[in-house]
Amino acid sequence: QSDLSRAQSLITSIPDYPEPGVVFRDISPLLADGPAMRVVTEALIEPFAGQFDIVGGLEARGFLFAGAVSAMTGVGILPIRKAGKLPRPAAAVSYTLEYGTATIEGPDVLEKGERVLLIDDILATGGTLTAAQSLVADLGAEVIGSAVVLELTALGGREHTGEVHTLFAE
Ligand code: 5GP
Repeated sequence: QSDLSRAQSLITSIPDYPEPGVVFRDISPLLADGPAMRVVTEALIEPFAGQFDIVGGLEARGFLFAGAVSAMTGVGILPIRKAGKLPRPAAAVSYTLEYGTATIEGPDVLEKGERVLLIDDILATGGTLTAAQSLVADLGAEVIGSAVVLELTALGGREHTGEVHTLFAE
């Protein structure tokens, strides 16, 4: 068993969370495993070596991998936040959820044309990642790639996001 497939096996499916009929993927056991975190972080950035100036993490689990990427490569972190958390958001993008809407916001820290790699744990419908791509553009920077640990392919997220580097697909 490769290190990566061992990491994948640590992701646990939790039925009926957060509501009946939904199967939630819990990455907590992967986060708790040091060698798995290392191999997953290395694999997330592998296609993008030397191509990004900053890593954008999507609240909240994307922050954890973005932090690991920052420590591994020496780039800084752009935290992409849920609405209402930043003291002075520079841009905001709203998107549609199954029920209602959500908004993400970003701080005014990017240089014009700065190259951003976006990172999250799970790609589901793609709404969050697509909004983050727009947000980075609104902040005046350039998304050079998007990477997630696990893609739930049945939800068709990549039809909205465009190309995404995914380590695992279910
Ligand atoms: P989307 O916007 O693609 O529908 O949902 C992706 C966002 O919701 C990600 O930020 C991800 O963290 C979260 N998410 C959606 N489904 C799951 C899941 O089953 N497990 C985890 N850990 N996060 C999920």
